[in-house]
Amino acid sequence: MGDASGGRIVFLGPPGSGKGTQAVGLAEALGIPAISTGDMLREAVAAGSELGAKVDAIMQSGDLVGDDLMAEVVKDRLAKDDTASGFLLDGYPRTAPQAETLAGILAGSDDDLDHVVFIDVPEEVLVARAVARQRADDKVEVVRERLRVYREKTQPLVDRYRDQGLLRPIDGDHTIEEVASSIRAAVENGA
Ligand code: AMP
Repeated sequence: MGDASGGRIVFLGPPGSGKGTQAVGLAEALGIPAISTGDMLREAVAAGSELGAKVDAIMQSGDLVGDDLMAEVVKDRLAKDDTASGFLLDGYPRTAPQAETLAGILAGSDDDLDHVVFIDVPEEVLVARAVARQRADDKVEVVRERLRVYREKTQPLVDRYRDQGLLRPIDGDHTIEEVASSIRAAVENGA
């Protein structure tokens, strides 16, 4: 990706790793849409849509929305024209079946994933950050549940993408600016 534009990128990392902020910054720099499935679901809840009604309670509990429902959401979103030169997926895939779904969607196009940016932060730092933020949905029990679900369902994707040569591991326990420049370097160098 020598021209520093476009690209098909996935962001992986535990809840509270700062991945959302970094995703928006990188996507803007590359001129591709940042697609946050969490934001899409929160918007659906706020809009009172049928999708929102299905996912509201699940999201509040810290659990994951079902893979089939998420597959519909992501297929529809990636079919939009603004993803023609690439996309940055933040928060998808989060399970092995979701990774299969994404691979299936991309197999139908000419372009595979370019990078899986993995922002890692120690668990105690994540809990401390969440306590400091104290949003309504950041109750410590819910944070711990999200971390448990992350370890069980999402963490295994790290190995999958490492094996595919796509993983770009980033130490997320630094300032926003430092993490942003590590990500830029990793995406430019492909390592
Ligand atoms: P996030 O903002 O990415 O942390 O997502 C907030 C919540 O939305 C998660 O805790 C899940 O309940 C739900 N969610 C977002 N993305 C996914 C996904 N890929 N699979 C299942 N649930 C998701």
